[in-house]
Amino acid sequence: MHFHCKCGHETRVTTDYLPYVAEFLAHQDVDDLSEGLQEAENDVGRILPYASLSRRMYQCVQCQRIFIENHAGGLVSFVPEDVEGAKAILSSSAGQGWKRHLRARWNDASNPRHRHRQGLIDYSHTEPEREFFGDWNEFENRYHALFEELKSQQRLRTAHLHKNNQLVHSWQLHRE
Ligand SMILES: [Zn+2]
Repeated sequence: MHFHCKCGHETRVTTDYLPYVAEFLAHQDVDDLSEGLQEAENDVGRILPYASLSRRMYQCVQCQRIFIENHAGGLVSFVPEDVEGAKAILSSSAGQGWKRHLRARWNDASNPRHRHRQGLIDYSHTEPEREFFGDWNEFENRYHALFEELKSQQRLRTAHLHKNNQLVHSWQLHRE
């Protein structure tokens, strides 16, 4: 999913938990959602009532325009009068308390030009929070330091460390 804004910025939705994507439910559909969830109890398809009733909205991170999906599946854009107040308006209601996903990936570089970017740690909330590494030990230490810090602050939901596509460390809230 990607689209261009009038300001020139291209919004790409390539992963989950982006701070500029939200789903909304019309108040008129709340009863249908509630009834659908009750009927779907213990069914793997229980998420379906929500998926079929909700629509998406997006925000351009450059100009803060809001794009709302209309009933035909198209996008309608709105320009905020208060651009500062509109920043990250679609991000989690928990604010800084949002339980983040800590994702770390290391790939041994085949190309020497990419040696300084073999490791990537991403723990983004409203702004991209990404760090690149060229040294495995430094990368691994930073991952565990971030893991302990976010976990002790109760701002972590999942953590995954992959080395050359092999899972080296993982953790999930409520599964300790
Ligand atoms: Zn824009």
